[in-house]
Amino acid sequence: MGDLDEYEGALAGLSRREFLTYCTGVAATLGLSPAFGVKIANAAVAAPRPTVIWLSGQACTGCTESLLRTHHPSLETLILDTISLDYNETLMTGSGHQAENWKQQAMKDNWGKYLMVTDGSIPTKDGGVYCKVAGKTYKDAVLECAKGAAAVISMGSCSSWGGWPSTGVNPTGAVGLNEIIKDKPVVSVPGCPPNPYNFLSLVLHFVAFGKLPELDDKMRPKFAYGRLIHENCERRPHFDAGRFAMEFGDYGHRQGYCLYKLGCKGPETYANCPSVGFNDVGQGTWPVGTGHPCFGCTEKGVGFTKSIHELASLKSVAPPNSYPAVAVEKGEGMSAGAAAVVAGIAGAAVGAGAVISSRLGKQDAKTESSSTAAE
Ligand code: SF4
Ligand code: SF4
Repeated sequence: MGDLDEYEGALAGLSRREFLTYCTGVAATLGLSPAFGVKIANAAVAAPRPTVIWLSGQACTGCTESLLRTHHPSLETLILDTISLDYNETLMTGSGHQAENWKQQAMKDNWGKYLMVTDGSIPTKDGGVYCKVAGKTYKDAVLECAKGAAAVISMGSCSSWGGWPSTGVNPTGAVGLNEIIKDKPVVSVPGCPPNPYNFLSLVLHFVAFGKLPELDDKMRPKFAYGRLIHENCERRPHFDAGRFAMEFGDYGHRQGYCLYKLGCKGPETYANCPSVGFNDVGQGTWPVGTGHPCFGCTEKGVGFTKSIHELASLKSVAPPNSYPAVAVEKGEGMSAGAAAVVAGIAGAAVGAGAVISSRLGKQDAKTESSSTAAE
């Protein structure tokens, strides 16, 4: 084992034990056995630290801010000690020619070995003039930097697939990094903002094993994006029992019922938000945990694309058919009793469909009823 004692006091007050515990946690996040925690810790303290060059395009800076707002351990300290962050426009003190020269020097000294990380989308319309740094279009800057990179990581939804700058009419022709870099894989860590621990785990995996972790078909690390939000959500028992909040502040919302009918996109969004949480303040600190529907920020075609209160497409599950809805007004939708009658007349399958429809709302129930009648 490396000399981890060197780390005592160096990482925002982390002791050797805390550092090992932290690395074991990273191993668990990566889906590895606890024994790999030691390997990751050794790799993290071994010199030389990998150089990271971080470029920012059409970004709100939320990705970097998210990285800086974690405290157990203090991520900015850990990441600055684990890697060598040689260029980041938000964090560095240099500017102008000095900063640009430093970036060029860092690229030259570490050609073929550095990690390139980007946040923000890339404007492509009108020759890319909508985002320029040091007299170059951002598109040219990422193409230049990617040539010498050992690995390329797009951090955040904007960099992964265009994010909010690409919504609607997309006035700047904003695209994700994978539309620009075609000659090497672009690993994607989407989110708005992305969870900083997913980024750190990705980097530590690269540092410890010299290769990238397993990726999904959208180039996202499977350890972080392998499961639907809906599969790990603490409100899932309410979904399964047919208990839904129908509007913000109603009884169901105050009771912590499922937010599906308020437009929660958890059933079609892959991310580990329920398990990892945000801001280091404990379990339940993520949008759904605090009462707001997931809006699908990690999922191209969902976040910033579907409207906030639009119902999610159910990828793997449907609401159950064995419970009545909790908030169907008299004379609206279809009651459980009515559904039972339908089931008796037209068969269990049609009845089950009617109950599902009653739960999915008045309009759907009407449609189901009329289609049943038509049959
Ligand atoms: S992904 Fe979200 S947090 Fe990151 S730059 Fe885009 S808008 Fe900001
Ligand atoms: S629909 Fe949303 S709130 Fe309901 S269980 Fe799924 S992820 Fe959780």
